[in-house]
Amino acid sequence: MQDTYDAIVVGAGPSGSVAAYMMARGGLKVLLLERGPHPGSKNMFGGTIYALPTADIFPEFWKDAPWERFVTTEYLYFLDDDSAFQIGFTNMVYGKPPYNKVVVHRGVFDRWVAQKAVNEGAVLQTNALVTNLIYEKSLFGRDKVQGVQLDNGCIYYADAVILCEGINSFLTKQAGLRTDIPAETVKLYAKQVFRLPRSILEDRFHLEGDEGAIYAFTGYPTAGVIGKAGIWTGKETLALITGGFLDQLAEKRMSPYELLERTKRHPLIRRLLKDAEPIEYAAHMIPKGGFKMIPQLYDHHLLIAGDAATMVSGRRGTDLAMLSGKMAGETILQAHAKGDFSQKILSNYGWKINQSFFMTDIRKKRGTDKYVAKYQDSDYLISRAMNEFGSEFFHVGMGTEQDKMKKIQQELKQIQLPLKSFEDVWQALRHWEVL
Ligand SMILES: Cc1cc2nc3c(=O)[nH]c(=O)nc-3n(C[C@H](O)[C@H](O)[C@H](O)COP(=O)(O)OP(=O)(O)OC[C@H]3O[C@@H](n4cnc5c(N)ncnc54)[C@H](O)[C@@H]3O)c2cc1C
Repeated sequence: MQDTYDAIVVGAGPSGSVAAYMMARGGLKVLLLERGPHPGSKNMFGGTIYALPTADIFPEFWKDAPWERFVTTEYLYFLDDDSAFQIGFTNMVYGKPPYNKVVVHRGVFDRWVAQKAVNEGAVLQTNALVTNLIYEKSLFGRDKVQGVQLDNGCIYYADAVILCEGINSFLTKQAGLRTDIPAETVKLYAKQVFRLPRSILEDRFHLEGDEGAIYAFTGYPTAGVIGKAGIWTGKETLALITGGFLDQLAEKRMSPYELLERTKRHPLIRRLLKDAEPIEYAAHMIPKGGFKMIPQLYDHHLLIAGDAATMVSGRRGTDLAMLSGKMAGETILQAHAKGDFSQKILSNYGWKINQSFFMTDIRKKRGTDKYVAKYQDSDYLISRAMNEFGSEFFHVGMGTEQDKMKKIQQELKQIQLPLKSFEDVWQALRHWEVL
């Protein structure tokens, strides 16, 4: 294998494979390095990819991408021990092209994206763990990245390197572009996948054909840690995830696996999973630090994209990874055309990211961390308040309706002051983007 390329991409997740695809399609010699035995082997998510941003890169991707289902129904359940308050939405139009949210298995979807890059001429090397960036010493100014080194000692050279290494972005740190990632800016999730015969699954979740559903759960599953649980329907699989902020899990001495087991014990979730056969376990982190944790996105001959660049907004991650990978790839194509990979030219990538719709959203969410740190019980208390309300409201007693409303008000006040409840709900709508 030749050891000099126009560009090297580290990590064949959605951001890396799209960056490689863009550059290879533009005629560059591209090397895509993935530490796992195949793209996607180290990745897990809920999860759904989002149709519109995906189609921006791969038009009508659903014609050949390995999808599981097209989401038409979403529920959010506020769970207490024995009760559940729910809100939901169904739209059959989302089940038809151009679709909305698409359930995929990352193990196969990531392979498909990487193959797109390979089809354009990129070289994919798996079982290739990059351990070091190689620098050209500069007498004046910063040293320049000129390649990467693998754990087996192999060295590859290129005009540009794009780091798409996901949340454990230690090469980004090695490059001096970010500091350590604090535990309060990261959520840790455990996931279990179950097999359930297609006909039972569709009956249970009220689905027909290729329609899919997402059930999100808050309150009970995370036992006072800010986080969530969720079920995504595949063709004949159910994916269950549970988790929350890493610092809160550590403080309360809870593991996401314990939370997963707790989630499965809830009477409602137990019923949804009845007779489903567990086939897979995984755990993964997601960067939730928002704007203030975004590293410097470019340096001489170097760009950062995807989770490594904290391109996450609410439940959107894969699409922002792919869009940032696309922008990174386009920037390197422009730099190649100019024959200039200096920080000044590559700053164009930072400019593109800053102008993007998702960066506007990420900027707007500044301050969420303070709220989350101050009110670690907000998930739990909102759920309790909604369930108290539901239990009284739907209960038929022997008093007047006025007495009933008074009792509801008193019970809600006992949980927390009404003003705090309003603030929790407002913050939930503003920051958590639960649906
Ligand atoms: C529990 C959970 C649920 C989620 N649900 C959703 C969802 O429903 N929808 C959504 O859009 N997003 C979701 N996300 C977020 C989404 O998964 C990420 O934002 C997305 O995967 C980021 O893509 P990426 O390419 O930047 O990084 P990754 O997907 O993490 O890929 C990084 C790749 O780099 C490789 N790598 C790392 N270091 C090296 C190295 N040194 N050398 C070689 N290879 C390396 C890894 O093996 C990996 O393949 C979820 C995340 C989690 C954890």
